[in-house]
Amino acid sequence: MDIDKLAKGIVAGERRALARGITLVESSRADHREQATALLAALPKEHEALRIGLSGTPGVGKSTLIESFGMMLIGQGLRVAVLAIDPSSSRSGGSILGDKTRMDLLARERAAFIRPSPSQTHLGGVARRTREAVTLCEAAGFDVVLIETVGVGQSETVVAEMSDVFLLLLAPAGGDELQGVKRGIMEMADIIVVNKADGDLKPAASRTCADYAGALRLLRKRLQDPDGFPKAMMVSALEENGLSEAWAEVQTLAGWRKDHGFWQRTRAAQARYWFEQAVKHALLAQLEAPKAKAALAELSDLVAQGLEDPTKAALDFVAQLDRSLA
Ligand code: GDP
Repeated sequence: MDIDKLAKGIVAGERRALARGITLVESSRADHREQATALLAALPKEHEALRIGLSGTPGVGKSTLIESFGMMLIGQGLRVAVLAIDPSSSRSGGSILGDKTRMDLLARERAAFIRPSPSQTHLGGVARRTREAVTLCEAAGFDVVLIETVGVGQSETVVAEMSDVFLLLLAPAGGDELQGVKRGIMEMADIIVVNKADGDLKPAASRTCADYAGALRLLRKRLQDPDGFPKAMMVSALEENGLSEAWAEVQTLAGWRKDHGFWQRTRAAQARYWFEQAVKHALLAQLEAPKAKAALAELSDLVAQGLEDPTKAALDFVAQLDRSLA
């Protein structure tokens, strides 16, 4: 494969080149990995898209919102890419986000690019692929990259670690509970967006929004936020209400962070995070090498028979785990 040509095609905004590039970074074949690394190195890094993370449980209205929000942005002359991280696709092969009928209108737009979640066995693998796909979309000149995930566990952290602005999408709550949203996830949110603020659901949406605004005020103020953030607001993705207000808030926040140095600082911290993740994965992968596996099994037997002390055996093994084993 001609990597330079592929890189040029991506930079020229050719959708097929971008799709092929993403397929390449999604592949786990060793030769593809090498080509993917070369491709990432060959791409220019000057263009920065606004990376927006969006998390919400199934049914809260993510696809409806992305469709109407994306169409609005395209109407303003922006180019929008949509990527997804779906932890369910790693566990079971069945995907919550992969449904082909989602985002029909947006999918037909030339200024939009939609890519479903890559499937893999580990969230870490999916995360790496999506993060590299984000880089490819930036090189392809997209103005906004939306990274969507299902709010069921660790995937929010992963998405927050690759976003400039993180949105948490909620539905109106029936009662007085805060929908069991974990504190850690609330702490990641820059804007809590309460969807379905329309028709009969509007009063409940107002209450939910006020509840979350109150809860956000109790959180410790973060350095990277101007006054008033994080905040809660209401939208109706279905009736397309509140979307331009949400976009204005995102831009206000992103602009402030750029002006005050937090944009670059956050991206630098994220680069560090992904570097550390990659080191950990590479080390764990060494354990999977046949020689290492065999040595590990042998030592493990000795430990089980009481012939070796677990701690000492482990330290000896790690000391040995250099190129001769891996
Ligand atoms: P996702 O699973 O988070 O992607 O949610 P969907 O976008 O598929 O929406 C789930 C359901 O909620 C669908 O029946 C939508 O029509 C509905 N829905 C989404 N947004 C709104 C909204 O703003 N108002 C109302 N009333 N329903 C909505």
